[in-house]
Amino acid sequence: MSVMLKLARNDQGEPEIFRSIQGEGPAIGRPRTFVRLSGCNLHCVWCDTAYTWNWAGTPFAHQSGAKFDPSREMIKLSAAETADRIRALPSEGVVITGGEPLLQTDAVIEMIDALREHDHRALIEIETNGSIAPSDALVDRIDYFVVSPKLAHSGNDAAIALRPEALHRFAEMISASLKFVCKDASDVDAAAAIADQYGFPAQRIYIMPEGTTSEAIHARGLTLIEATIAHGFNYSDRLHIHLFGQKRGV
Ligand code: SF4
Repeated sequence: MSVMLKLARNDQGEPEIFRSIQGEGPAIGRPRTFVRLSGCNLHCVWCDTAYTWNWAGTPFAHQSGAKFDPSREMIKLSAAETADRIRALPSEGVVITGGEPLLQTDAVIEMIDALREHDHRALIEIETNGSIAPSDALVDRIDYFVVSPKLAHSGNDAAIALRPEALHRFAEMISASLKFVCKDASDVDAAAAIADQYGFPAQRIYIMPEGTTSEAIHARGLTLIEATIAHGFNYSDRLHIHLFGQKRGV
């Protein structure tokens, strides 16, 4: 039986499926069609998509203080309709993001199969927080995983955010990189400790400044770059913030 996908909504109330450039990580600057799913198992205090999970009546802290109504922020679509909407915005690749997409693995698989029924070449990437091990069925369908484990400054309990079985699984796949949101140089060292523990090579590690304005990203980037270079990691900017600001659907 078909499983409905839970998607975030854009400012017009439509499903948040849009075409843009990838602003972060290994494919930075490449044209992509984004699909933003709703729901997350983590609760980062600086999350820039808190409208996917920080529902009214929940106890989760967020630096904005804002809470959201799921009936306004979430919309359910079938896999086939989601695939049709993605196809209407053709680009080099599709990025399934969130929220946390792996919470909806069965529906995501159905959507990918619906997409590839018409175009088996479709390049598909997933952005995940890395706390859920991907199933073999999902791994078989995904070209690239961008995994963003959450460090202590996110406010999540490490026992929930950093799951050894999931990180071991991603480490053994060459089609997975780690992207760490960092606030200061000590976070780069924490990222290095995780990379070492699970055997991720430096080329597959991206360090990205936390921030939702160009000014914050620039200032924070300067505090991270020395440690990033010293560890041999990649540095990731947040291009979409410079181009569009902190907005939905861009
Ligand atoms: S894991 Fe990602 S979507 Fe979930 S709360 Fe953290 S930043 Fe937001």
